[in-house]
Amino acid sequence: MNKPLILIVEDDAPIRNLMSVTLEARGYRYIAAPNANSAILDATSHNPDIVLLDLGLPDLDGVEVIRKIRSWSNMPIIVISARSDDSDKIEALDAGADDYLTKPFSIDELLARLRATMRRLNQQPDAPTQTTFTNGQLHIDYAAGCAYVKDEELHLTPIEYKLLCLLSRNCGKVLTHKYITQEVWGSSWENNVASLRVFMATLRKKLESQPDSPSYIQTHVGIGYRMLKMDN
Ligand code: CA
Repeated sequence: MNKPLILIVEDDAPIRNLMSVTLEARGYRYIAAPNANSAILDATSHNPDIVLLDLGLPDLDGVEVIRKIRSWSNMPIIVISARSDDSDKIEALDAGADDYLTKPFSIDELLARLRATMRRLNQQPDAPTQTTFTNGQLHIDYAAGCAYVKDEELHLTPIEYKLLCLLSRNCGKVLTHKYITQEVWGSSWENNVASLRVFMATLRKKLESQPDSPSYIQTHVGIGYRMLKMDN
């Protein structure tokens, strides 16, 4: 397999250089763009495997870059931003970002996110036509409408099952409360976010061997949830 190609979008030259040097040393290829317009151009012409995207750019907001790329491509986009407000992360995720890191970030954390994203890419496609899903001890038979952990069937309510399927079909990706409630209930009313917490708690009780320290479903406080990709 070719070395993965990473598009680094960052207007701060020292950070851009640090990321470029680090990625190259770890066996990645990279292209670096200092602003939104060259980022969009590079994304179109080089079709990178992953985009690392700063949100505060001199010409266009990074969220606009996500929207433009999403209009034609599903390439993974990891947002790296100094904006630490939940609303900024939610806006980026709802625009189609896969993940986010808050600055200052550690290089180890960045490399871990890249590895997780590469693993997910190599296990593609999670196409809607896929009829089964396996992640660690969890197995879902979409066609039969059944989920199992360690070969034992989980007795889920329809909503719990819907939630589990949504998270599994987007495994590795952070899903916002708004996105989940829209997919599950067809609306994003505030009281559905409260219901979502309740259903997530009951789902975890059935799914996780230790619901207090869940391994499958990660909580992003104030933002949403993600199913973690297990090392099978
Ligand atoms: Ca910036």
